[in-house]
Amino acid sequence: MSDKQPIYILPESTERTVGKDAQRNNILAAKLVADSVKTTLGPKGMDKMLVDSVGEITVTNDGVTILEKMEIEHPAAKMMVEIAKTQETEVGDGTTTAVMLAGKLLENAEKLLDMKIHPTVITKGYNLAERKAKELLEELSTGVSIEREDVLKHIVMTAMTGKGAESVKEKFADIIIKAIKQIQEDGNVDLTNIKIVKNKSNSVEDSELIRGVVVDKVRTSIDMPSKVENPRIALISDALEIKNPEGDTKISISEPAQLQSFMDREEENLKRIVEKIKSVNANVIFCQKGIDDVVQYYLAKENIYACRRVAKSDMESLAFATGGKIITNLNEISIEQLGKCESIEEVKQGDDSMTYVTGCENPKVLSILVKGGSEHVLDEIERAMMDGLGDVAAVIKDKKIVAGAGAIEIELSKRLRGFANTLSGREQLAVQEFANALEFIPLTLAENAGLDPIDILTELKSKHDNGEVSAGINIFNNRIEDTLVQGIIEPAKIKRQALSSATEVAIMILRIDDVLASKSSGNSRGVGSGGGMGGMMGMD
Ligand code: ADP
Ligand code: MG
Repeated sequence: MSDKQPIYILPESTERTVGKDAQRNNILAAKLVADSVKTTLGPKGMDKMLVDSVGEITVTNDGVTILEKMEIEHPAAKMMVEIAKTQETEVGDGTTTAVMLAGKLLENAEKLLDMKIHPTVITKGYNLAERKAKELLEELSTGVSIEREDVLKHIVMTAMTGKGAESVKEKFADIIIKAIKQIQEDGNVDLTNIKIVKNKSNSVEDSELIRGVVVDKVRTSIDMPSKVENPRIALISDALEIKNPEGDTKISISEPAQLQSFMDREEENLKRIVEKIKSVNANVIFCQKGIDDVVQYYLAKENIYACRRVAKSDMESLAFATGGKIITNLNEISIEQLGKCESIEEVKQGDDSMTYVTGCENPKVLSILVKGGSEHVLDEIERAMMDGLGDVAAVIKDKKIVAGAGAIEIELSKRLRGFANTLSGREQLAVQEFANALEFIPLTLAENAGLDPIDILTELKSKHDNGEVSAGINIFNNRIEDTLVQGIIEPAKIKRQALSSATEVAIMILRIDDVLASKSSGNSRGVGSGGGMGGMMGMD
């Protein structure tokens, strides 16, 4: 283009990268994303410490959390982050696996591009391979009944291994299984019904499942009762205060008597709020906003238990659990809007106290109280819990499991290679590269555990060649074992979803041969130079 007079069809501020450059650049960015989570894979994976712009620290091993916190800017890299998010919402676990697989598919595609194989041929081959891999996955998965608690327990333990909850993973497995069994309906699980409440204390072992809602708030005054049996609960989203007039309203007072009457009137208004609540016989209040001191005083006098500044999500859980309606206008309060349960009580947990709402009308609302020594630990345990919950929910719905510790990936890889041999065109090469990419999972599991990845891979492959379909590398004893027998098992759904989303993003990135980035969009960093990803290279 340089020797001819250029014709501009785009705004001057647009940065354009075309053809091979665009492709290579996108592939590089995607590979860097995959690399950045690689060291966290598996039971011996390392953690990452992420510090955001205001100094907030997150220590985690969880793929999607790392990528979300990295504030990635490169457009192709962002697409990789999206697959982690999809994996998280679809299954709740397997995010690192999905991202690594996508990265490897792109890295291997690059080799084929170097051999002058057209991207269309590669994407066609990858599509074929994905379809076949999913078929093979169905063949290789084992059916499981939801009555098999032992199997479910192993699934949770496999998911939680190496995630900061090591010592108590058996206990957590019991809690998770109990919780999911309680809320499941015909195999469907709505995880939003389970609330995880974190409490700082040293006794992780005292974490517990509570049938009901735990609200991280105390009663507003110690003169209120600390426990109410069979309460009538009012859920109020409005403030129990006198509303400040809009704008700058001045009240001019010239005599002391006027001031007194003004204050009396205010108190009357506040009393009226309490009267309203009394008129429907409510004796417990959860208020989403503030409660005036005077109102608190009168509520306590009436023996009413009240919490203020309750989170909106808690208000919604409370409404769902107790059958109450959220009241937006106190003037419209009525008995039918009140919620019911067996008991409300302020319970001391570690240094804090919380409000337990138990024996609810709706038994499908649960809370898991997680205890831990510090906020960072609690957050990481919460993420591990979410992985475990997601996995059990997936198995309850899908009823299929596969052998973990790299076993399923090796077997899929082997069978895909067999499939590649039945193909004639150049797609064959792409299917082979797809098969190679799958080996990256066991390879990395071994590498992260400090083992020799090539030795392990060779041994694994020879076992699989001898028909040991579920041979994987058990990272606990560093032995190659039948992982199905050893209970290192995962939901088939994790792998199915990882295959789909990794292939989808790899293909999408491979098909791009032109990047037009508007400089003002803030997305142009890194396009054309890969510079935007520079910060990530130093991550591991
Ligand atoms: P992801 O975000 O992909 O779930 P994880 O860090 O949770 O990543 O690691 C999951 C991988 O660890 C799976 O491939 C699983 O089979 C493997 N794994 C779990 N327990 C063991 C074990 N005891 N030995 C070897 N691999 C294991
Ligand atoms: Mg996991």
